[in-house]
Amino acid sequence: MTTRDDEARGQAAGQGGREPVTAYIGLGANLGDAAAALATAVLALRALPDSELLGRSGMYRTAPVDASGPDYLNAVVALRTALPAEVLLDALQDIERAHGRERPYHHAPRTLDLDLLLYGDASIQTPRLVVPHPRLHERAFVLVPLAEIAPSVALPGRGAVADLLAGVAGQRIERLPS
Ligand code: ADP
Ligand code: MG
Repeated sequence: MTTRDDEARGQAAGQGGREPVTAYIGLGANLGDAAAALATAVLALRALPDSELLGRSGMYRTAPVDASGPDYLNAVVALRTALPAEVLLDALQDIERAHGRERPYHHAPRTLDLDLLLYGDASIQTPRLVVPHPRLHERAFVLVPLAEIAPSVALPGRGAVADLLAGVAGQRIERLPS
């Protein structure tokens, strides 16, 4: 399958620069000083090459979904970036590692989780990257902060983010004072 991302990688490998896209990145942490982890992660995202931080949501306290441990803190940022999607994923994983993230088992509590939620309007399916993030539409901890900064952004095949909020209304999420 050829995606816009393949085209993007082709451009990056070959003919130099490529058009930037708006990517949305979900941040989560539930171990240690989660607020500090999110704050330094935002600084690291701001410092990425060929990228500009367009906006960030407030911070939200949420109950773990399919996971153990204390409540999470979550936020979403919008990034205008010319980095190809897989290069951006590499960068997100570097930032996770810099925060001491280990992956002892799936859904383990984590010091920092960075998920690539949306990459322009691309649909990507590779062994290490699925975009839109497959569980995005069913998770309040992603949808609510995403709707705060981009209510009208569309999930391919599912419509506007704001219209998906009703489906996650039963999940506990609380915006922290800014
Ligand atoms: P989750 O975020 O679903 O709780 P992890 O953070 O442990 O799980 O991610 C596991 C793997 O998910 C990563 O190794 C990464 O390659 C893969 N992955 C697939 N799609 C994405 C995406 N859109 N954003 C981040 N990671 C992704
Ligand atoms: Mg993740």
